[in-house]
Amino acid sequence: MSDLYARHRSVLPDWLALYYEDPLEITHGEGRHVWDADGNKYLDFFGGILTTMTAHALPEVTKAMSEQAGRILHSSTLYLNRPMVELAERIAQLSGIPDARVFFTTSGTEANDTALLLATTYRRSNTLLAMRNSYHGRSFSAVGITGNRGWSPTSLSPLQTLYVHGGVRTRGPYASLGDEEFIAACVEDLKDLLGHTRPPAALIAEPIQGVGGFTSPPDGLYAAFREVLAERGILWIADEVQTGWGRTGDHFWGWQAHAQNGPPDLLTFAKGIGNGSSIGGVVARAEIMNCLDANSISTFGGTQITMAAGLANLSYLLEHDLQGNARRVGGLLLERLRAVAAQVPHVREVRGRGLMLGVELVKPGTDEADPDAASAVLEATRADGLLIGKGGGHNTSALRIAPPLSLTVTEAEEGAAILERALRSLS
Ligand code: PMP
Repeated sequence: MSDLYARHRSVLPDWLALYYEDPLEITHGEGRHVWDADGNKYLDFFGGILTTMTAHALPEVTKAMSEQAGRILHSSTLYLNRPMVELAERIAQLSGIPDARVFFTTSGTEANDTALLLATTYRRSNTLLAMRNSYHGRSFSAVGITGNRGWSPTSLSPLQTLYVHGGVRTRGPYASLGDEEFIAACVEDLKDLLGHTRPPAALIAEPIQGVGGFTSPPDGLYAAFREVLAERGILWIADEVQTGWGRTGDHFWGWQAHAQNGPPDLLTFAKGIGNGSSIGGVVARAEIMNCLDANSISTFGGTQITMAAGLANLSYLLEHDLQGNARRVGGLLLERLRAVAAQVPHVREVRGRGLMLGVELVKPGTDEADPDAASAVLEATRADGLLIGKGGGHNTSALRIAPPLSLTVTEAEEGAAILERALRSLS
């Protein structure tokens, strides 16, 4: 056990999970690569989710942050904050939500917390709908809408939550259905649930479940839900913490794959926009955002240095069409991984879109999740110089691939070759 690992164990909570038997200390990064404290170099296929949206140590972002740090680091929502106004204007316009207002937080959890505060106040109801296998954070209220027991450490919640089918298609009663039948079955389930409960304030959902294993609900699922919700005045909150900013390639936001009925009522974001600095936030129509009687919710969200980072990062993303890159490079990677999967009996499914790809592992010849295989692949790829993630269900048997959005074709091929070796070594 390294000295730092021992110190980590002795002073931090036992439940603070670490990847790898010999946990990694990342000391620096550049582009799509990171280095550990022993000088080992890794291609990073997971940093995109762990907040690096564009590239590690992107000079444009570093410069904007250091210039801001050299001027002032003061932060209070009691004074005008120019970079906060500028970033809010850009996000409001990109969100697709009419008459949008933006409130910044410091994390995705806090963004969802705020969205729940808004939705429950606006609708005067503390009943919520959430998806099975969902993950929305671990604050006292976010735990109450996180459907995945493995990620939800307590059942004591201030909310009354009902869980809807639809996020996962690989298992469950509707697993064998085609897209249209699956959507129809989930809509029926939703209507049935609504018959048993007080009117809920909102349905919160990740367009593609992140921690849940990069599941891929059929396009249009949430549009179909939306119709049922809108008839009853129930709000739709899209949690875009992992799916936002062009990661899914075809769309800037995940909700756009379900867009027949227009944008969500509220949208939450975090992680990637700050490229490693702590930004989260919620976007909502003005009438919803302004339903609170408050002078602020947090005084620390929107601090100038994170806003400067967000502005530089977003400009880089748009100017270099990284959404298009996610579509092109992600498409090639998906094809390559599907070809490998066809020859590896442990792989049940390769799914996702853009640079958000999941590989579901099972015990060969069965439908049973294989978390040991997922851990083995994680260790083997690390030893070979590639970082990936895992997640999915209550027993984490899906591999998660989410590189920075500037990933090149050569790097995609290099990473796919390492992953292929690890997957083949399972049998
Ligand atoms: N929502 C989703 C979809 C997430 O994936 C996460 C983090 N994994 C969160 C919310 C919570 O974000 P944070 O960790 O920044 O609090």
